[in-house]
Amino acid sequence: MTMNYSQTPDMDIRMDDELPLSPTPSTRGETRRYTLETELVYSDCTDQYNSSSVPIYQTATFKQTSLSNMGEYDYTRSGNPTRSHLERHLAKIMNASRALAVSSGMTALDVIARLLKPGDEVIAGDDLYGGTNRLLKYLSVNNGVVVRHVDTTNNRAVQDVITDQTTLVLLETPTNPLIKICDVAGISALVHAKNPQALVAVDNTMLSPMLMTPLDLGADIVYESGTKYLSGHHDIMAGVIAANRIDVIDRLFYIINASGCGLSPFDSWLLLRGIKTLAIRMEKQQSNAQQVAEFLERSGFKVRYPGLKSHPQFDLHWSMARGAGAVLSLETGDIALSAKIVESTRIWGISVSFGCVNSLISMPCKMSHASIDAKTRAEREFPEDLIRLCVGIENADDLIEDLKTALVKAGALKISMNGTERISTPPSKPL
Ligand SMILES: *Cc1c(COP(=O)(O)O)cnc(C)c1O
Repeated sequence: MTMNYSQTPDMDIRMDDELPLSPTPSTRGETRRYTLETELVYSDCTDQYNSSSVPIYQTATFKQTSLSNMGEYDYTRSGNPTRSHLERHLAKIMNASRALAVSSGMTALDVIARLLKPGDEVIAGDDLYGGTNRLLKYLSVNNGVVVRHVDTTNNRAVQDVITDQTTLVLLETPTNPLIKICDVAGISALVHAKNPQALVAVDNTMLSPMLMTPLDLGADIVYESGTKYLSGHHDIMAGVIAANRIDVIDRLFYIINASGCGLSPFDSWLLLRGIKTLAIRMEKQQSNAQQVAEFLERSGFKVRYPGLKSHPQFDLHWSMARGAGAVLSLETGDIALSAKIVESTRIWGISVSFGCVNSLISMPCKMSHASIDAKTRAEREFPEDLIRLCVGIENADDLIEDLKTALVKAGALKISMNGTERISTPPSKPL
């Protein structure tokens, strides 16, 4: 019998004697058995040599024993044992029937977007990741896909634009960098009620499976950039997609196999390694982020972070998520002042992206979100002075001290008798 795990996800898991010798991943559509922290590091990989780390199958082809008995793997574009192991591990931690690993987060969205036909309608947020915006723009200009950008943090706004042509609803929460929360469960329910054919896809990059599992909230597809928290070290690009509906996963796998965007064996191995420390990294990053957010709020800045009670959607966020994440943003009221602050830090590296063990600082309007033109940013009330902080695993006091020094140097804070004091300029735009 020929077996192809990638196409038979619900095959009887007990047929151990028919499994290939190496490596034998633990999870094929199995639901989680332990708490997530344990599942992240736990794997029953029974490699023929009992290797503790999953082997890297750095090969493009696999030899067959005969013409009539084709093995599980033949060509790495279609499947590779290291990638399969990663995908099964991901399915487990994402609470999905199956997961797929591709070459970047944007590739994940590109694969999902290939489900669309001309005339199909996509509903997406108005505070989207810049790259997502760029890809949707391409699809609407070149492929006849109709993209409706609405405020997806407002259920009514989504409800109003659902039609019979709605094929895909894209959600991101918290949005980046405005840190607005969208009601994944509420929107999934209302989309499915109004158009049962429409798929709700959640970009879970900001929270990772550690803090939220959108499939449990009613979403059809979850995808995320593995470049961020999942790998955690900014040394690879990767993307993951997961779903419970086998018909959806089969179509997505078809596209990956057809186009060849599956994650390479080496990067699959690096991502597997990164995932093992997700829980401990995220815990430290969140705890640091909370302390940084509280310091900035205490110092009089307008701070956006779901870990702060002042966040207008605090309750909604905590109804879905197990933590606040480690990305926050603040406003200074002045673009030049913000630029000066960003350029005055030392530990905080000026960099796009987040999810890394190192702390990063950026000005989205000049960096990650520069591909959204200034007029659109203005329409969406995007504060140009916004500073985004992506908190790493360093010592919290060092991080706060470095930030304080930069704020003082830039002229946003002054040291006074009773600590620090904000030199005030009003926030540029309301939340
Ligand atoms: C980074 C990011 C992506 C894209 O992922 P890449 O791995 O960079 O292609 C998509 N969505 C969000 C929210 C991101 O932060």
